[in-house]
Amino acid sequence: MCRILLIILILIYSMTTSSFAAPAKKKKSSVGSAVAVVTVQDSFQIEPLSAGVFAAIAKPDSKATTNAIFVIGKEYVVAAGAHMTKEVIDDLRRAVAARTTKPIRYFVLAHHHAGYTYVDFDFPPGQDVLMSWQTWKNIDSEVRKPEYSTMFFNEGLTLKPGGVSVVLTNIGKGHTDGDIVVFIPEAEVLFASDLLYINSVGYMGNGYMTDWLLALDFLEQIDAKQIIPGYGPVGDSEDVYEFGQFFRDFLTEVLKCIERGETLEQTLANFDLPQYHQMDGYEQLIQLNLKRAYGDLSNNFLP
Ligand SMILES: [Zn+2]
Repeated sequence: MCRILLIILILIYSMTTSSFAAPAKKKKSSVGSAVAVVTVQDSFQIEPLSAGVFAAIAKPDSKATTNAIFVIGKEYVVAAGAHMTKEVIDDLRRAVAARTTKPIRYFVLAHHHAGYTYVDFDFPPGQDVLMSWQTWKNIDSEVRKPEYSTMFFNEGLTLKPGGVSVVLTNIGKGHTDGDIVVFIPEAEVLFASDLLYINSVGYMGNGYMTDWLLALDFLEQIDAKQIIPGYGPVGDSEDVYEFGQFFRDFLTEVLKCIERGETLEQTLANFDLPQYHQMDGYEQLIQLNLKRAYGDLSNNFLP
């Protein structure tokens, strides 16, 4: 049966890779490491990563719930992010305006969580919002309809804002059903959005678990020097590996519960990953993530 095969594969993978895993390292905070911090908004800590490439790291307890990126080209600016309320969009625009007079021509909406009509609908006129076709379907199926101009694509799109390339790739299913990652090859910077969390269990409520694992392998293979996660500080490929280890351990435990014939309620009552208690969001999100993983894996692997 394929679910047994998957458990075996994941267990073998975990056993063969965990012996090489570096001990959990204490991440240095990105806050305060920026060379030129211009504070004109409350949502993000802005970090210059390379010429014209900036990470916008969501400040804890701010209105921003996920990180963003913007790239200032010779001709125009490209920004990218997700979960965008009007206030967060305004804050990101203020952060860009503090550094250049060039306009944001394109905003890349990395994903959209279906049912959340208070985010991703308030982009102002004057720019196009780029997204995957799956994200467009999610947005367009909401009760509220987008009023901004949109472009959506199937596999990928490369923008040339002047002096730098912004490569958009539609990963397909992972954190949602149409995640986009943004790569700037000249700077070797990758914006992974919510496909990657650093030192955090993250939100998996719309996730497709086995596809997400494959997406992490893809991100690791890009081998970018700097990677902006959906939540947490700027990291690198080692952080993708570490999140992948956590993810595999998490899914292995869920599959064991399913294999033992435990109901969702029994799984929720008994589940524990003590080695990951120190991760941000464990207390708040592990049960919610567990519900999604149990349903997703049961649907895909039960006969
Ligand atoms: Zn998300």
